[in-house]
Amino acid sequence: MSTARGRLVVISGPSGAGKTSVCRSLKQRPEVEFSVSATTRRRREGERDGVDYHFLERDDFQKRIGENQFLEWASYNGNLYGTPRWPMDAALARGRTFLLEIEVKGTRQLRERGVEGLYVFIAPPSIDELRRRLVHRGSNEAAEIEQRVRIAEDELLAAREAVGGRPLYDVILENVDLATTIREVEARIWP
Ligand code: 5GP
Repeated sequence: MSTARGRLVVISGPSGAGKTSVCRSLKQRPEVEFSVSATTRRRREGERDGVDYHFLERDDFQKRIGENQFLEWASYNGNLYGTPRWPMDAALARGRTFLLEIEVKGTRQLRERGVEGLYVFIAPPSIDELRRRLVHRGSNEAAEIEQRVRIAEDELLAAREAVGGRPLYDVILENVDLATTIREVEARIWP
């Protein structure tokens, strides 16, 4: 049996802060594997089932919670999101870097359970800039944008909390310039 042990990297940040772009860049590294979450939210244009998310009906998702299939799960903006358990275990056992892109409540569950890893929070330069990016992105309705801005304000506060005397995130990076932010995250993962 192999004793290789990879590294877990958790990346969070409000919608529009740039975390998906950071993750997209990290995924290009051959040693990185990416967690495909399950969600009850509806599929957006261009998203593929089993690649971007496992799109599940709510009762199916809830059944899987009962079966303890998720490493963590949380409700975000009225939908459920969860990390399937076994891909991470398998990837870490093979010595891979395993990337989770999850929101703050899910991260807190991992911290509370003492799951070892590098926890990174990508913050926007300001709330106004975040709103501007969400509007520019054009993939959300106006009401949903305001809802996401409100969630972002909560997440920015929650990200600075401590869990068991330890900061929830090891590093909080303000994403002013994407290339710089990516370099900073890479330097943390591969010092
Ligand atoms: P979106 O609907 O924009 O794809 O994702 C909404 C939020 O859910 C984002 O903050 C994203 O990082 C988070 N998210 C995606 N998958 C998971 C997951 O498996 N668990 C948790 N806790 N959050 C997730």
